[in-house]
This record gives sequence, C-alpha cells and structure tokens, in this order.
Amino acid sequence: MKGNKIVAVGDEGLAKEYEAKTVLDVDGDIVMPGLINSHTHASMTVFRSLGDDVPDRLHRYIFPLEKKLVSRDMVRIGAQLANVEMLKGGVTTYADMYYFEDEVAKTVDTIGMRAVLGETVIKFPVADAANAEEGIQYALNFIEEYKDHPRITPAFAPHAPYTNTTEVLQKITKLSLEHDVPVMIHLAESDRENEVIAERSGGKSPVAYMADIGA
Ligand SMILES: [Zn+2]
Repeated sequence: MKGNKIVAVGDEGLAKEYEAKTVLDVDGDIVMPGLINSHTHASMTVFRSLGDDVPDRLHRYIFPLEKKLVSRDMVRIGAQLANVEMLKGGVTTYADMYYFEDEVAKTVDTIGMRAVLGETVIKFPVADAANAEEGIQYALNFIEEYKDHPRITPAFAPHAPYTNTTEVLQKITKLSLEHDVPVMIHLAESDRENEVIAERSGGKSPVAYMADIGA
C-alpha cells in the first residue's frame, strides 16, 4: 500500500522488493480486500425485521412507517449502527439509497468507510422532499457538497420506475450525465411493478421500458 492505493500484487517473492513500515502478524487470519455491499438502506437497520413475513410489505408497512419516523436523527443513528455492523462483517464499501443522504455521508466520513450514496427521488411526499422535483434539488445540493470527497461518491437514486414519472426518470438521466454521477434504482423488483409498467408502456417489462425512455 502507498497512501490509499495497492501498488503491487503477486506471490511471496514480491514482498522482498518492498520495505514495509509496519509488519503485522495475522497468524490464522486472512488479509483481503474489504467486501462490498452493493445495495442497502443502511438507516433502515432501525426497522429490522418489521413486516418481513407479509406480502407487499413495502406498501403496507414500510412506506407508512417511514412517513411517521424518518428524520435526520433516525437516518444518522441507523447509518451509524449499520456501518459498525458492516465493518464487523468485513464490508468496507457500500451502495446506499435513502433520504437525508448528507447525514449518511457524515457517518461514512467519520468511520472511514467508502460509499456510493444515492439521494432518493420519489413522486410522493417524503421526509426530505415534498415531491420528485424537490428530491432532485436535494440530490443536486448533496452531489455538489460531496463530489470531490475521496471516499464518497454521491448519486441520484430514483426509487423505482413505478414510483416516478417517465419525465422525472429522463431528467435524472440527463442530470447524471451532466454531473458525471451514477444512478441507482430498484428495477424489475415486484409483480406489482411489472403490472404498473406494462400498463404504462403497452406491455413492456420494466427493463425494456427503461431502455426505451433512454435511461
Ligand atoms: Zn432497496
């Protein structure tokens, strides 16, 4: 390692070519790159297991629960707990999608992890935006604030095609290219989504619909 970069990978002969400042005896342990959690909602650790066993839990339980309980404090506290749990399991990088992502970013910055943090855009009123347009604005401010951070990649996170309009999804596509940031989305996730998108698009699957609208 030099700074935060791996400078060489190879067999044991390679080690002789480098002088290390510190040598660790990790007898019995493994030295390996950190694991990557490729999709999570870290702050939702505070809702763990609620409604897990009921059909359509997102609409019946999670959305109403979030409407009542999501706040800056809840987002920060939940992310802090999730960060510790992930690190203890070997996860050093994660992709997150939630509200108040600037609060999640502060926890990632403090603990020293890496993360791709997506600010949610959704068509109904949520804790940090009254509508999709406000969600986009929140995301733009967040992107501006964190775009040069060495370990945090800010992103747009339109929740799903069925919870956003075609116009909003196209606008986010355009903005993500302009600002050179990633987009994360839930896609082809549920039966209900398949039905809603088929109705909207004349029978297309969610993936085909997204491709068709240029997203
Ligand atoms: Zn998700």
